[in-house]
Amino acid sequence: MVKFATNLFFILLVYVFQITFTTASDRANSKLARTNNDDLQTCLSSSLPLPIRTIYPCSTLANQNSSQYQCDHFNVNELSSVRGGRISHFPAVIVYATNSNDVQNVVKCATKLNYIVNTRSGGHSYEGYSLGSTYNNIVINMEAINYIRINQYDGTGIFGAGARIGPIYYRTYQYNYTINAGSCAWMGLAGHALGGGQGFLGRLHGLLSDNILEMKAVNAQGELITINKTHEPELYWALRGAGGGLFVIVTEFKIQLVKSPPLVRRFSSTWYPNATKLVMQQYQSLLFDDKISNFSNNLFLFMRVLKTHVAISILYFGIEFDEFNNTISLLLATLPTPNRTKLYEQDWLTFVYKSSGIADGSGDHQQLLLDRLTYPTYHFKAKHLFYDRPISSHNLDKFIDRLASGDGEITMIFLPWDGYLSTIPVDETAFPHRHFKFGIQFTLYPTDEQHEKEQMNWLNQTHVEISILYFGIEFDEFNKTMSLLLATLPTPNRTDLYEQDWLAFVYKVSGIADGSGDYQQLLLDRLAYPTYHFKAKHLFYDRPISSHNLDKFIDRLASGDGQIGMMFIPWDGYLSTVPVDETAFPHRHFKFGIQFTVSPNDEQHEKQQMNWLNRVYLAVYNDSAKHSYINYIDRDTTLIAMSSEAECIDASLGIQTGNHFSIGVKISQRNITLAS
Ligand SMILES: Cc1cc2nc3c(=O)[nH]c(=O)nc-3n(C[C@H](O)[C@H](O)[C@H](O)COP(=O)(O)OP(=O)(O)OC[C@H]3O[C@@H](n4cnc5c(N)ncnc54)[C@H](O)[C@@H]3O)c2cc1C
Repeated sequence: MVKFATNLFFILLVYVFQITFTTASDRANSKLARTNNDDLQTCLSSSLPLPIRTIYPCSTLANQNSSQYQCDHFNVNELSSVRGGRISHFPAVIVYATNSNDVQNVVKCATKLNYIVNTRSGGHSYEGYSLGSTYNNIVINMEAINYIRINQYDGTGIFGAGARIGPIYYRTYQYNYTINAGSCAWMGLAGHALGGGQGFLGRLHGLLSDNILEMKAVNAQGELITINKTHEPELYWALRGAGGGLFVIVTEFKIQLVKSPPLVRRFSSTWYPNATKLVMQQYQSLLFDDKISNFSNNLFLFMRVLKTHVAISILYFGIEFDEFNNTISLLLATLPTPNRTKLYEQDWLTFVYKSSGIADGSGDHQQLLLDRLTYPTYHFKAKHLFYDRPISSHNLDKFIDRLASGDGEITMIFLPWDGYLSTIPVDETAFPHRHFKFGIQFTLYPTDEQHEKEQMNWLNQTHVEISILYFGIEFDEFNKTMSLLLATLPTPNRTDLYEQDWLAFVYKVSGIADGSGDYQQLLLDRLAYPTYHFKAKHLFYDRPISSHNLDKFIDRLASGDGQIGMMFIPWDGYLSTVPVDETAFPHRHFKFGIQFTVSPNDEQHEKQQMNWLNRVYLAVYNDSAKHSYINYIDRDTTLIAMSSEAECIDASLGIQTGNHFSIGVKISQRNITLAS
């Protein structure tokens, strides 16, 4: 089974990457050729029923006065529940689908006209992935496909993919059932379940994805397919835990419901920061101690660590209260007396409502969980890590020190990932993290706009510059290329246009000075030569970098402290018409190359910055880009020569960088784990 799953993972990897490569290269071409979305508007208006809302952001519409299409001057960021300037592109259109037929029709238009499609259900992706990351994509909003049907006789539920978790909690509770999902009531079922879906019942019933019995979904050909254990078993395996936005668009889920707990008991104890280390150690020893592993899965211990306090909560979903009381005694046995404790019981729905953090738990559940018309938005940046052993005392010290040293609010929530969840074999579904004991979610709430800027500053500083050089005399050619470049891009923040004689140009691009000066003296009669302090790497490409790798690359570029420059240079034209075997120069069949350069700030930062350079470099290192230009030789040959090694390094770096576990990284992690 392990072997089967591993092979399957490889097949899926190839499948995903093939799709990505094809669409990326096609997109690059079509993006250049496309000057408006008229073809898309025509296709959608002829294939969708009239009442379907199709909103074209005004900025993407050539004719904004057309009465045929709705155009809205909205901010796309508002479609994401997590705010903070994560999205800077505009989709070509947002379609508000009402059933799977609408989804099929949109996908058919997209496939025919070569558009990228992204699906949004609850909009709770931490980084706004449901809106995609490509300019001029199609977003299908699934919010209206939100039906909830409960079969109280066999304890199953049929849900539209756009249903939100809160209403599902409310409806199922009417029949003494529930779903084993996460705590935020407003997440969409689709994104949540496809990525796993972990919540307070995780130790008792596993992940939400473990209880998916069947799905209806639209594939890339626009066909509606049924996915379960026997129909499309590979997709059934992959869709349970690999994450949303891959393979197909799910329109409906059939889920095995679980009995709602008769009552929830909760004990919370809070300490001031002088006890933080002791409390963290005690939490870890409770999780890793053999005695505790005999505790029933009705228990769920979680911890919140902030600068101002640390709190451990024990939840109990069973009826053997001795078990609950013993755990409290065990927790407090070796710790200083807490500064505050709380003990209370709640019915399941009140608990769900209260833990979703909307309000204080009083109020009309029906109105708040079911009939809600607007949803809260969040302003945070989150990261996550899994652990299979306790954090060492030394690292706890470092962690507490660093937590105290910052200005702002960071919350860390420690959640157990063991219990029933970890008894399901790792290869049973695509969810790859079952062998961990606990996870930490780190959340930063920027204090205000000014601080956020500081925190995200590096990202904003990164700028992209595209230069077009023209050596001919047909200026039309030059002007057309400029128009083509700018046609589908947002207005640049700066443009420069100038003419120079050849020598001035040569002098200026050599980067010695600002281009003025005595060329003879500076180019010919020079007595001293400049020295440089940088580390460079180089890669050639024979096809475009995939969208997935571009995302990785931009993320990693943003994560460092210092300055990395990347120069993309074409290697085609006459150069590539010379037969490859005409001279010893071996790189004539590539389309472009990238030179990466880091100029270390100072000696102390150098090592750190070299690592960062490698991480950025590996993000776009792949089968099409294993060659480096001999004149830019670099001694890190292990990175270039050993592709499997590079994959491992890439995977481990993916883990270090934390937040975005791409499917590629998950797969590599899994392969390493299975191989070892
Ligand atoms: C405040 C908050 C609290 C959270 N709490 C928890 C928690 O307790 N436990 C937990 O496990 N997670 C939690 N999450 C994370 C959440 O589970 C994920 O972000 C999840 O992807 C959100 O699903 P969505 O449908 O709302 O998101 P969306 O942003 O709509 O989609 C997320 C991803 O799924 C894809 N997708 C959406 N719909 C479909 C579809 N129909 N078919 C195929 N792909 C689709 C999107 O393209 C995107 O890539 C929380 C997130 C937030 C913001």
